[in-house]
Amino acid sequence: MLGMTSLDVEVERILRSIHLGTPISGGRTTTTTVRHPDHIKVQKEIVNFYGECQAVDCPYADWGGITYEAAHIVAVEDGGEADVDNVLCFCPSHHKMFDDGIAVDIWWTEPHNPQRFLDKL
Ligand SMILES: [Zn+2]
Repeated sequence: MLGMTSLDVEVERILRSIHLGTPISGGRTTTTTVRHPDHIKVQKEIVNFYGECQAVDCPYADWGGITYEAAHIVAVEDGGEADVDNVLCFCPSHHKMFDDGIAVDIWWTEPHNPQRFLDKL
């Protein structure tokens, strides 16, 4: 945060909220989530395609009642594209680990291939 103005901090907070899909409170009594429709479409596509966590041997897979989440490999605020190869399907626990930078071994099925996206970087 060194060298960041309060505006920078606020912009980062909003962008992070957009990326995580969490509500932006901003001191208001209502909440708003903003995300480009192309990202929403791709995220739904990947969650529907997999319907389970892409972390290898996810221990939560058999728990039932899990709402799977789409995670961007390259975050939207970092220029991540609305591309199926830039999105993974995780359980909430692995999504948080992934976003926190903790290494998560993933599996995938063609035609989806996140390695193709990483190779473009
Ligand atoms: Zn998982």
